[in-house]
Amino acid sequence: MLSINDLSVRYGRSVTALRGVSFEVPDGQVVAVLGSNGAGKSTLLRAISGTLGLHGGSIIGGSVEYAGERLDRLDPAGVVRKKVLQVPEGRQIFGRMSVEENLRAGGLAAPASARDEARERVYDLFPILKERAGQPGGLLSGGEQQMLAIGRAMMADPEVLLLDEPSLGLAPQMINRIGRIVTEINERGTAVVLVEQNATMALRVSDLAVVLEVGELALQGPARELADSEDVQRLYLGGH
Ligand code: ATP
Repeated sequence: MLSINDLSVRYGRSVTALRGVSFEVPDGQVVAVLGSNGAGKSTLLRAISGTLGLHGGSIIGGSVEYAGERLDRLDPAGVVRKKVLQVPEGRQIFGRMSVEENLRAGGLAAPASARDEARERVYDLFPILKERAGQPGGLLSGGEQQMLAIGRAMMADPEVLLLDEPSLGLAPQMINRIGRIVTEINERGTAVVLVEQNATMALRVSDLAVVLEVGELALQGPARELADSEDVQRLYLGGH
C-alpha cells in the first residue's frame, strides 16, 4: 500500500502547491487523480517519485510511505529501487535513440539477467513497439511515444506505476487504447496512480479516485461513485 499522509508541498518561498493531502493506493488497485490545471496533480506525482527537488519544490509537511517505508526520505533512484516508477508528463523519450535503446535505458536499474525477460514482457504488452524496435523513438506517433514511455517504465518491473496525463494530446481512439493498457498493466498486478484531465477515461479504468482543487483534496471515493457525483459530472465530465 502506498500512503500519502497529510502532504504539503511548496515551490520556492511562496507557492504552496499541495496542502494536507491524504489518501491511499491499495496494492494492485488503480487510483485516478483528477483536477483542473494547476490543481497540483503533477506535484503530487513528483512528491511520490522523489523528483520534486528537480523542479524547485520541497515537501514541507507530511510523508509518503510505501510498504511501510518512507519514500520521501529517498532520492529518485531510491524510489525506483522500491519499484515505484513515474512516467512524466510529455513522455520525455529519447527521440534519436531507437525504440529498443529507449527500453534498454529503462531497464538499467534491473539486474542484467532480468532485462531480456522484461523487454519481452513490454513487447508482449505493446506489439507495435516490437515492430518499430529499430526506429528512432522520435519518429513514432504521439500515442506510440506514450506507449514507449510507459514501456520504458515497465522495464523496471514496477509495483506502482505513476502516470502523468498519458492521454494528453491524443485522439479519442488512442485515449481509449491507453485506458485499456492501464487495465492490462493493472491485471498483471501493478498498482497505478493515474493523473488525468480526461476524467471519463480515468474513472472508467480506476477503482478509486481523488479530486484535487487548488492543492487540497476535495473529494475521494470509489471511482464509480465519483462518476455519479453531481460535482464531478458538472466540473469534470461535461455534465450540468
Ligand atoms: P497541469 O494539469 O496544468 O499540469 P497540475 O494539476 O499538474 O496542472 P501542478 O503542475 O502540480 O498542477 O501545479 C500546481 C501549482 O504549483 C500551480 O500553481 C503551478 O503554477 C505551481 N508549480 C508547478 N510547478 C512549479 C515549479 N516548477 N515552480 C513553481 N511553481 C510550480
